[in-house]
Amino acid sequence: MAVKNRFAEMHDEITAWRRDLHENPEILFDTHRTAGLVAEKLRAFGCDEVTDGIGRTGVVGVIRGRSNNSGRVIGLRADMDALPIEEKTGKPYASKTPGAMHACGHDGHTAMLLGAARYLAETRNFDGTAVVIFQPAEEGGGGGKEMCDDGLMTRWGIQEVYGMHNWPGMPAGSFHIRPGAFFAATDQLDIRFEGKGGHAAKPHDTVDTTVMAAHAVTALQTIASRNADPVEQIVVSVTSFQTSSTAFNVIPQSVHLRGTVRTLSPAMRDLAERRVREICEGVAATFGGRAEVDYQRGYPVMANHEAETAFAAEVARAVAGDCGEAPLVMGGEDFAFMLEERPGAYILVGNGDTAMVHHPEYDFNDEAIPAGCSWWAELVERRMPAA
Ligand SMILES: [Zn+2]
Ligand SMILES: [Zn+2]
Repeated sequence: MAVKNRFAEMHDEITAWRRDLHENPEILFDTHRTAGLVAEKLRAFGCDEVTDGIGRTGVVGVIRGRSNNSGRVIGLRADMDALPIEEKTGKPYASKTPGAMHACGHDGHTAMLLGAARYLAETRNFDGTAVVIFQPAEEGGGGGKEMCDDGLMTRWGIQEVYGMHNWPGMPAGSFHIRPGAFFAATDQLDIRFEGKGGHAAKPHDTVDTTVMAAHAVTALQTIASRNADPVEQIVVSVTSFQTSSTAFNVIPQSVHLRGTVRTLSPAMRDLAERRVREICEGVAATFGGRAEVDYQRGYPVMANHEAETAFAAEVARAVAGDCGEAPLVMGGEDFAFMLEERPGAYILVGNGDTAMVHHPEYDFNDEAIPAGCSWWAELVERRMPAA
């Protein structure tokens, strides 16, 4: 089997939906137009139930198969939100909203899941229930968690859940996956060093927070190089260094650092948090100052479940003939919250040779649509075969 013929027929139409979403990007939970459009289409396709306002602006659609002897309920999830980036693609369907663009391809994800929903509602060639999930605020807002907290899994009796993301640099429509930890836990650092400001010509009368913070930035690099087992993955990046004075002749009273920590296991995450505190507080004390460390845990590690990963790969091979091994990604993905609640898997679909996601010249590749839609449809038909 290759891609399903129905998606070759629908390719132009789904592409038009995708480009309309691209022209009208919406950020975080403000996906009102997108969610409205999704709900309207799901109703038009004849979904059995369509509910909006889940996790603030999320939408859930239910499609019942021709029979339900299996009693199985599978969740299929797409994200709908865009990013606060000024688009530079120059495409005719480029963003009409200044400062917002679909730079992560969630326009493509939404369009592909809509295409699959239409096909599944038309054919219903399965024994069980498919629940299509459209979530807001994947990009840092935790929309997936909000939907889970709103009872997504229990309210619709979802037993397994699957997700898909496009990936630049892999051939369009090809698939890649890996079992276990896949996307990183993403934590935020907010650190304040307090000392004693003063005249730059009289350093001996001050407690210099710039020197203190500079030592801390260097020492923080030893979490990865000296504390973590070299076979583990960890990123510690200080991304902002702000002194309370920008004058040439003032030793600033305080310095504010910000940064991010990415890890792939709970043990590494605990180690990183402990060492960030010890290093910053220890360095500050050494220089006679004080450090206040605010370590905020963000998305957890996104870990694919073994059996569901093997199944997702089998479906990918049926659609594309092959399924490669995906690389580890140190970025975050809030599908992690759904995979903490239910077994499931997340797969990458190739976006071809394009700019990377989150780049102002990135664009979702419409050539991937038939493969992406076919994976969703085949997943449902294979997991819940018609009697
Ligand atoms: Zn993204
Ligand atoms: Zn994304």
